[in-house]
This record gives sequence, C-alpha cells and structure tokens, in this order.
Amino acid sequence: MDLMSVNKSFLDRLSQIRGLEYAGNVVYWDLATGAGSRGIDARSKSFGVLSSQVQAMMTSEAFFLSELEILEEGIEKLDERDALIVKEARYQLDRISRIPPDEYRAYTELTSKATVIWEEAKDKSDFDLFAPYLEEIVEFKRKFSDYFGYEDHPYNAHIEDFERGMTVKVLDVFFEELKATIVPIVKAIGERNSQPMDDFLFLSYPVEKQKDIAEKILYSIGFDKNAGEMKESEHPFTMGLDVSDVRLTTHYYQNRLTSSLFSTIHEGGHGIYEQNFSKNIVGTILADGTSAGIHESQSRLFENNIGRSEAFWSYFYPDLQKTFKKAAGQGRTSHVYECSQ
Ligand SMILES: [Zn+2]
Repeated sequence: MDLMSVNKSFLDRLSQIRGLEYAGNVVYWDLATGAGSRGIDARSKSFGVLSSQVQAMMTSEAFFLSELEILEEGIEKLDERDALIVKEARYQLDRISRIPPDEYRAYTELTSKATVIWEEAKDKSDFDLFAPYLEEIVEFKRKFSDYFGYEDHPYNAHIEDFERGMTVKVLDVFFEELKATIVPIVKAIGERNSQPMDDFLFLSYPVEKQKDIAEKILYSIGFDKNAGEMKESEHPFTMGLDVSDVRLTTHYYQNRLTSSLFSTIHEGGHGIYEQNFSKNIVGTILADGTSAGIHESQSRLFENNIGRSEAFWSYFYPDLQKTFKKAAGQGRTSHVYECSQ
C-alpha cells in the first residue's frame, strides 16, 4: 500500500476511535447532568468499557501501530496537518499504552462514579462521602506517575494533561508572583471604608428566570444553540464533542444571581472556542483545544474582559431588569428589591 492509502486508512481508524470516545463522552455528560442516581454504577461501567475499548484499539499492533509506524517513516511526505495528526497520535499512544488495561478500566470507572459522588458530597457539604474516592484516585495517579515517568516531581507527569511541558517548578514561581500581586490588592479593597452596595444581588431570584436570562446572554455572545446545549450541573463545565456538538453547564443558586450569569459567560467562552476550531482540523485528533491554558484564556476573556465590562451591562441590564421586575423576593437581606422602571 502506498503512503497516501495508509494515511487515508489511518485517518479512518482514528475516526472510529473518536466515535467511541464520543459515545463515552455522551455517557459522561448524562452522568454529570443529572441522569437518575440509581444508574450510577451502570453508567460508570459503560464509560469504563468504552474508555478501555479506546485503549485497546490504540495499542493494537494490527489496528493502529503498524500504520502509525509506516506514516512516521514517511512523515516528510505528509502535509502539515496530517504530519501533526501522526505526531499527536504517537504522543497519545505513548501515554495510554503505559497504563495496564485492567487499571485503566478501573480508573475510568472510578473517576466517572466519583464525579457523581463528589456532586452529592458538595451539595450536602459532606467531605467524608467523597474522601474514600479521592484517596483511591490519588493512589491511581501516583501509580500512573511511575508508569509515565517524570523528573523532579510526580505531578509533572500529570500537568502534561493540561499544559504540555509545564512543570511544578515553573508553576510554583508563577503562583508566587500572582500571590504577591493579588493578595495585597484584595486586602486593600476589603479594608476600604466604602464598599459597593451589592445586597440586591443576593435576593431570591427564581431559577427559571435565571435560566431565561442566562440563555439569552449565551446566545447573544455568539454561542450557536444549534451546535450545542446548556444544562445544569453541580459545577459548571464545557465538553466539546465536535464543533457541531458543544455541551456546557452552569449552576443556579436562587440567592446568588451573578453566579449563574458569570458561569454561563465563562463556559460560553469555552464553548465558542470549541465551536470555532479551524475547518481543517474539525473531526480530527487535533480538534481538542491547544491546551487548558489557552482554553481558559478564551473563557476568561468572555467572563472578565467582556462580561464584567460596563459596555456589556449597559446593553444587558435592561433585560435583567425586565426579567426580574416582579420576581425578586426575600433573600439575604430583609427588604425586597425590585428593579425600578
Ligand atoms: Zn474555565
């Protein structure tokens, strides 16, 4: 077989793997967005099975490795995108093949189950509920550090999953600098005599109305509602299954209006990034965001630079007023706030 035929076949194999990952992610989405609690074990098992099937396909000599090796030898002849796909496939294979299959399956099952338990523990403020799961996860992670190999610090093996090449040493310096700048600012603001009047943000705002305004904002800032959806979960997150299918969540607190609004704008930023990947990489192993840092830069751009600007609220505040005109009831303070006009 010539190189281009191998490349075509390899891309097809990658899309078969992606198909399974897609199904696994939908199972995870269900699990994290409130499917019935009695199904936790079944869904976690199913997620574990799909994940381990992905591992089995990627580590198979016949299905994957033999073609990957041929493409690596002829990588100079591939175009830029396909050469990057080959390099990325090798990177992912190197990682996933180091974990013994039975441990990988047990780990994926455990983490999906732990997601649900963590939600329950957070909701009930009961850390003891989650503690045994956390312990088991850390044990797995320690073992994986040894499998992956690392220099200086076992966590370096896992920072890879977020920022390739980043290390604990570099991040320690970074966070120290951040602390030295931010902590005095926060302290100075807290000590000022004049504090903003924000009581009205903590009144009772019906969740259904919060949902209306959150969705309006989400779609107005550029999230394509025909290429995704927003649901509620205990902690907001975004999951990009494809540019045409980006799922995100927010969380509504009846007495904390800004929480759901800014979470929506934040996750909207993640989602808009996912919905706008270059056409050239759509559907490939490369369409996954450059790194967690780049991803977060997009969400923070929307949340902080746009969503907290005066211009943004000059535009949306009348909508907010209209939405809650009659709705605001008793909250943290004793008086009832009703938006004027
Ligand atoms: Zn984020």
